[in-house]
Amino acid sequence: MNGERNLEVLLTEEQISKKVSFLGELISRDYAGAKELVLVAVLRGSVYFAVDLSRQLSIPFILDFIGISSYAGKTDPLGIVRITKDLDTNIARKNVLLVEDIVDTGLTLNYLLKNLRTRNPLSLRVCTFLDMPARRIVDVPVDYRGFEMPDVFVVGYGLDYQECYRNLKEIAVLK
Ligand code: 5GP
Repeated sequence: MNGERNLEVLLTEEQISKKVSFLGELISRDYAGAKELVLVAVLRGSVYFAVDLSRQLSIPFILDFIGISSYAGKTDPLGIVRITKDLDTNIARKNVLLVEDIVDTGLTLNYLLKNLRTRNPLSLRVCTFLDMPARRIVDVPVDYRGFEMPDVFVVGYGLDYQECYRNLKEIAVLK
């Protein structure tokens, strides 16, 4: 059980779905005519968003996944993460769109961008569903963002608390 009575909904299913459609149109327009787009979804939180977003794209793309895990279950102060599943696609000379669930301190994204840049993509952009700029420690580029959020711990739409709440259709704050 998710114990949903302890949650305060911040974003409804309808708000989420409208935003995902909007982002899909924007990205389709920006990449129209561009060659070889690879959507890189970061396991596991961004999977729900990435799949929904991909269904709103009217351009061809390859969907791939990169799995990461923080050391000892915590965000490392230097942002060092462990890659638990690498991409299957060679992204050299391809347009890469990294799809994130949330950019919080920016440490994870910073590490991922550095890692992916070493593989010589033609372009590398970031699309995040949620952005928490107030919590940023490292400056990271965000090209597409769904919603800017206040400094709260949110769950739902792929985001978990101890592996619970991922399947919540809304974004909520745990009370
Ligand atoms: P970072 O702090 O490195 O930007 O974020 C690292 C990861 O921590 C995110 O990809 C996400 O998985 C997790 N995270 C950060 N903020 C939240 C939050 O408010 N809720 C949940 N469920 N996860 C978060």
